[in-house]
Amino acid sequence: MVHLYLTIKALLIDFDNTLVLFNEDQFLVAYAKLAYPYLTDFFDEATFFQKLLQSTLQMIHNDGSQTNAEAFTNNFIADTPSLDFEECNNRFRHFYEEKFHELGDTVIVVPYGRELLKRVLDAGIQVVIATNPIFPELATHARLRWANIADLNITLTTHAENMSYCKPHPEYYQTTLGLIQRSPEECLMAGNDPISDMSASALGMTTFLVDLDQEKGRLGILSKEIGNSAKKEAKRFQYRIDASGSLEDLEHFLFNFERR
Ligand SMILES: [Mg+2]
Repeated sequence: MVHLYLTIKALLIDFDNTLVLFNEDQFLVAYAKLAYPYLTDFFDEATFFQKLLQSTLQMIHNDGSQTNAEAFTNNFIADTPSLDFEECNNRFRHFYEEKFHELGDTVIVVPYGRELLKRVLDAGIQVVIATNPIFPELATHARLRWANIADLNITLTTHAENMSYCKPHPEYYQTTLGLIQRSPEECLMAGNDPISDMSASALGMTTFLVDLDQEKGRLGILSKEIGNSAKKEAKRFQYRIDASGSLEDLEHFLFNFERR
């Protein structure tokens, strides 16, 4: 028998409702309200909100034929000939540069997150922020700052521009493993979502389900959509949970558990 941390070379950890807590639906509404002023000349507010949701789902269901960022923009401009691909990206980029940071107030940082990642890094284990890649790189970095982990030596953060699939698709995990050049057996995936995060077990990764703080974090329409579509493809998304608990429990599992 050998301690788990001696065989694990990379910790993949989810972000939303794992390292920061928030109400998904409230976040989506706040996001839409802040972003809408950047596209008022093309859509009324209700249409904009619909587009945002549809285009985000387009990323969730992306099949590898284009990046998630391309899937988003292509769906967003589909019925609006006056808005071209580049212009749409520019508008969103301005929003991310100028306003997105204000959404930082809507999340609660899990205090132990930074501590955990530091201990993992100190043990020589790589850290991957395996967040569902629906935000562009620019926004992803802002989000890491919210969680006070942007300065850590993180090997990879998945985002809409470096991914062509979303969780729970096994291809998302396959792409991530390819980018960090690791085998599934060398990786531990931790996160709060039994489907999106635990589906990493289908490839042979060790998994740890992080308990969701029911008071401070709440799943919404996107998580439900992911769950519903996963149910339709149940076979592809079978999963195994090796352990569960808080981030403190995750540390204990990683450093004290003996792998047979
Ligand atoms: Mg999550």
